[in-house]
Amino acid sequence: MAYLQNLHTHTSFDHGADTPEEIIKKAMQKGFDSIGFSGHSYTRYSDNTFSMSPSRTVAYKEDVKRLKLEYRDRIKIFLGLEFDMYSDTPQDGYDYLIGSCHYLKIGDNFVNVDHDEAYYKVMIDRYFGGDGMKFAKEYFRQIATFPKFAKIDILAHFDLITKNIDRADFFDYDSKEYISAAVEALETLYKDVKIFEVNTGGVVRGYRKTPYPMLNIIKEMKRIGFGAVITSDCHNADHLDSGFDTATELLKEAGYTEKYILTDNGFKAIEL
Ligand SMILES: [Zn+2]
Ligand SMILES: [Zn+2]
Repeated sequence: MAYLQNLHTHTSFDHGADTPEEIIKKAMQKGFDSIGFSGHSYTRYSDNTFSMSPSRTVAYKEDVKRLKLEYRDRIKIFLGLEFDMYSDTPQDGYDYLIGSCHYLKIGDNFVNVDHDEAYYKVMIDRYFGGDGMKFAKEYFRQIATFPKFAKIDILAHFDLITKNIDRADFFDYDSKEYISAAVEALETLYKDVKIFEVNTGGVVRGYRKTPYPMLNIIKEMKRIGFGAVITSDCHNADHLDSGFDTATELLKEAGYTEKYILTDNGFKAIEL
């Protein structure tokens, strides 16, 4: 049987529904070989309804480390962090880091790009003169600078700005202009980050019909040389493996034959 792992998992330490232990139990029921936790890093610039405060971060690390030992004979557990690009929390003491860009820095403001259609409309009007492509290009320009802020192992939901694609057209996702801005960012990032995630969380939570990234972007990632992990960006243990089949098909369609899993000896490629 294929190796079952999810490295993008939220818990009640951030804004997930379940405790790490509840998730571990559910993962074992579902036949997972391994589970990795990725709480949201503390961000002083967000409203912090979703990230872990510094003291909760300490508690989160302790809890996952305790469970890692307690369950070591039954399931492999990794301690990770979903590191928000402009977050300035410590990056040490984790098995891996997932890198996310949920906020753009515009002047002195931090602008949330992980939001709904109505917010996007106002944000693009206010900061980009109503020009959605200008917004997309700025997002890719900023995310390309990620290695300056953190050493990340996995690039999270790379085209998060397509979040509202099924409801609104803020820019042309298939245009040459859009793809080349994305590719430019990917080529820069690839010097430091070798793995991206196919993230099914948006589908599970009803925001999207297809996982991140879109197929056109995954094809570019393949051409550049990126490896892939499949994750569910899980906020509820019932959905730990939701959409994994769709994600596998998407990778195959882009030409992938392998995906990566995290092991005690680092990331390792296995057959899709
Ligand atoms: Zn995220
Ligand atoms: Zn997440």
